[in-house]
Amino acid sequence: MNTVIPLHPQSAGCSTAPVIRERGQHEVFCGLTGIVWLHRKIQDAFFLVVGSRTCAHLIQSAAGVMIFAEPRFATAILDERDLAGLADANDELDRVVTRLLERRPDIKTLFLVGSCPSEVIKLDLSRAAERLSTQFLPRVRVLNYSGSGIETTFTQGEDACLASLVPVMKASPEPQLLVVGALPDIVEDQFARLLGRLGLPAGTTIGFLPARRSDALPAVGPGTLFLLAQPFLGDTARALEARGATRIAAPFPIGVEGTTAWLTAAAAAFGVGAEVVERVTASARERAAVALGRLREALGGQRMFFFPDSQLEIPIARFLSRELGAELVEVGTPFLHRELMAEELALLPAGTRLSEGQDVEQQLDRCRADRPDITVCGLGLANPLEAEGLTTKWAIELVFTPIHGYEQAADLAELFARPLRRKALLAPSTPARAAA
Ligand code: SF4
Repeated sequence: MNTVIPLHPQSAGCSTAPVIRERGQHEVFCGLTGIVWLHRKIQDAFFLVVGSRTCAHLIQSAAGVMIFAEPRFATAILDERDLAGLADANDELDRVVTRLLERRPDIKTLFLVGSCPSEVIKLDLSRAAERLSTQFLPRVRVLNYSGSGIETTFTQGEDACLASLVPVMKASPEPQLLVVGALPDIVEDQFARLLGRLGLPAGTTIGFLPARRSDALPAVGPGTLFLLAQPFLGDTARALEARGATRIAAPFPIGVEGTTAWLTAAAAAFGVGAEVVERVTASARERAAVALGRLREALGGQRMFFFPDSQLEIPIARFLSRELGAELVEVGTPFLHRELMAEELALLPAGTRLSEGQDVEQQLDRCRADRPDITVCGLGLANPLEAEGLTTKWAIELVFTPIHGYEQAADLAELFARPLRRKALLAPSTPARAAA
């Protein structure tokens, strides 16, 4: 297996590299966006946004309309009377929730999701959730978190949602490997199979947070070792640690190298050797290596610029650089959590320009000066940059597409090869570097 290109095998990568820190105007979706994938993942949960018509439009257009099933998200709209304090928003909310739960016996967990307007009028959704839980337990548990865009980026909505689940997980001292982060079911099943074949010590259970159904919510306690599958789960990690669990430090399961390192760290934490991981993953690695080999010509040497968006930027940049030979011009991230990112930073090529936060005008200036081959950015920046002749990749696609694990490594690379191929087709005089 030769998919890993050790560009700087002896260096500590970007572990101590300087970071450009910017605190200016930023261009990202808010935390409500997480509802799009969370409502698909937790199949008996309902997400009730307490927000404005803008919030309703965002969710409706991002998640689309469910034609074959009743929707599992909605917005309780705060109107002028609520915002002006003329109506008791708590009474209104209780009325809406009662009507919803009477009509929908399939709902087992109800998330009240805060927004900018609910924060501005200081509507206390945690008290509302407590009050409503008392009323509707044991049939429905009501929890709350904030998806407000005032301070958060869009993947932090998932972090806040999962962190709200941690206090209601049962306590258990039993040994458990807990995978944390919403993964598409197909990816979760692949990981469950691989982890199940590692031969963890007898009695060790393998759990996933979030669970697909409320009654399958895993327990947590001092015997729990958890492995983050997503890099944006700092609050959830802290909440799990407060319940006695211990984080297994590892790179994220992006690409062949990241997935192998992630599984190896999990195995080591339970005393299972790397040779077992090697044996269990051999065929999956081999398949992924072949699939990636077909894309290396298209992506090798391509200059990549990442605007801060999903917090997946660093693991994806590491994958593109080390496994496909791409050149990293700038890797921006909305928030750099050094502890969670330590293993990833060590693998990034030394000298990579890192930025945290955003001052969009300054970053655009750097991007224009650099003229990268691919710019990874939010939807709002993509069209203007395309109009300037830059090839872009929508960052949000990286969250909506299954990208973790061996089987998805080539799909992830393909997401970057496709815009290059399209560019080559639109400019026939340019020699195409399209993948075979
Ligand atoms: S939560 Fe804030 S940023 Fe998000 S849609 Fe509502 S108003 Fe807009």
